Amino acid sequence: MGEGMLKDGIAPGRLPPTQYAINFGDLHPPLDRHEAFVEADRCYFCYDAPCQTACPTSIDIPMFIREILTGNPLGAAETIFEQNILGGMCARVCPTEQLCEEACVREAAEGKPVKIGQLQRYATDAAMAADAQFFTRAAPSGKRVAVVGAGPAGLSAAHRLALHGHDVIVYDARPKAGGLNEYGIASYKTPGGFAQAEVDYVTAIGGITIETGKSLGQDFTLSDLAGTFDAVFLGMGLGGVNALRAEGEDASGVDNAIDFIATLRQSSDLSSLPIGRRVVVIGGGMTAVDAAVQSKLLGAEEVTMVYRRGKEQMNASGFEQDLAASKGVSIRHWLAPRRVVAAAGKVTGIELSYMALDGNGNLKPSGETTTIACDQVFKAIGQTLATDGEGVTLVGGKIEVDAEGRTTMAKVWAGGDCATGGDDLTVTAVAEGRDAAESIHRFLSGN
Ligand SMILES: Cc1cc2nc3c(=O)[nH]c(=O)nc-3n(C[C@H](O)[C@H](O)[C@H](O)COP(=O)(O)OP(=O)(O)OC[C@H]3O[C@@H](n4cnc5c(N)ncnc54)[C@H](O)[C@@H]3O)c2cc1C
Ligand code: SF4
Repeated sequence: MGEGMLKDGIAPGRLPPTQYAINFGDLHPPLDRHEAFVEADRCYFCYDAPCQTACPTSIDIPMFIREILTGNPLGAAETIFEQNILGGMCARVCPTEQLCEEACVREAAEGKPVKIGQLQRYATDAAMAADAQFFTRAAPSGKRVAVVGAGPAGLSAAHRLALHGHDVIVYDARPKAGGLNEYGIASYKTPGGFAQAEVDYVTAIGGITIETGKSLGQDFTLSDLAGTFDAVFLGMGLGGVNALRAEGEDASGVDNAIDFIATLRQSSDLSSLPIGRRVVVIGGGMTAVDAAVQSKLLGAEEVTMVYRRGKEQMNASGFEQDLAASKGVSIRHWLAPRRVVAAAGKVTGIELSYMALDGNGNLKPSGETTTIACDQVFKAIGQTLATDGEGVTLVGGKIEVDAEGRTTMAKVWAGGDCATGGDDLTVTAVAEGRDAAESIHRFLSGN
């Protein structure tokens, strides 16, 4: 146990120095050649491939698995990248148990799907290690497209547009490209600087310039972009954070989960990162699980996730919930924050209302309350669009788009988390960026 483990309040260095690298190592170590062959051999190569239908980017899964089996991992990578240029990151972060692997025939028959995500990683890692490039740009079209946001949606759109011969300028408000791949995804899913390596791999096609530290709404407006470029793609994600709307929310020690995660992802010395001894995370999604698990991995003694509804309604997948439980996070349901308890301006606990459904199915406080003692509270109750949309129509807090990703403003497309539709997953952002780029290309070529 680290010296700092038992320290009250929010303190760094709760673990012995060598423990951090162990705790934040790769969640799923990569398959070696033999393991990949054995796993690939389990695929039935179904002709109607339900896994392919379940993948939001429609990767030809039986084809790439067959290529692995024939000793051709680079061919497999090409098959993957044709549909999903961020196939390396998706292999690490897709909730496969709800997507391709859920649909796998072996899952239905034996409860043990082919490890599609792991095989995808095997192939894409091989290609990136060899710096194998599979795409050649079309002849220059003379058209220029602005992309706002260098996250999965923006990078995927930029790559497809560059492939078609257009010149792309990607603007991102942050100092580094990658979006939540760089600042959000849990560090044990993508260790070793993979997000930046992938940005370099994607942009190696040429024709893509990334300008970081440039923000739509501050450095330029949407009308500026629409006036200067032939088309615009908005992939700026959801940068705002919902408020808790609980009394005492301003107390020191109440923080946004995504800010904590971004700091953690950028930290070069995890032992210097302060964390509470007793942490409460409010929310039931992937962000809440990631904040809770990483708090525990940093050495917090007690970590409790509280969610206002039941286990079945949580956005975090069964796999994520099990991961949290396996790391010692306790998850409590039917509890909503009522008041932050503080002493001398610092959080000392959180008072929660028990929640229940009334006769009409509406969620209501039951009248009973409970208090959990803690020194840190993370809010993970959803993100919002950080801009007012300027000229594009918003629906439910997101940019309205049609089936091709077109917004209501001429020459402007959108995709990923900031746009309507989709599941707020990396892989759906990639699919939407790619499909919007195809729509932009049809528009630019007069089709
Ligand atoms: C903590 C966390 C964990 C997650 N874990 C997973 C996971 O394990 N698996 C999974 O599939 N999904 C996960 N997700 C969801 C996934 O990360 C997102 O769905 C995906 O990143 C969305 O991609 P995007 O390109 O739409 O937006 P983002 O990744 O958010 O990228 C948007 C980019 O736009 C930039 N930007 C914003 N506003 C402006 C502006 N005004 N001007 C210029 N640039 C701007 C931002 O800096 C950012 O780089 C997670 C999300 C979070 C928050
Ligand atoms: S991109 Fe994701 S959903 Fe699609 S095949 Fe790969 S791991 Fe499965």
